[in-house]
Amino acid sequence: MGGGVHRAVDLETGAQGMTRGSNTLGGVAQHFTLLAVRCARCERRGRLRINHLLKEHGPDIPMPDLRQRLAQDCPKREAALYERCDVFFPEIGAN
Ligand SMILES: [Zn+2]
Repeated sequence: MGGGVHRAVDLETGAQGMTRGSNTLGGVAQHFTLLAVRCARCERRGRLRINHLLKEHGPDIPMPDLRQRLAQDCPKREAALYERCDVFFPEIGAN
């Protein structure tokens, strides 16, 4: 106990992030109503309603985590690592 000083560093890094606010689903929801989703490995592409995603995953889920969850819906999710599906969000630069 008693070691709280280094915390200040974390706060500073968090505050300076230019993409702060768009790294979570809740942040993205402030700018978009539909989330464009594409997969780097298969033909999958589309748009998901952010309202629906919020209900399912909550506003605090980080976008990288959401990518992984969405990739679970892909046909190649169980392929070998080097050819496994990898979902990304082309309209959001923060991932
Ligand atoms: Zn895919």
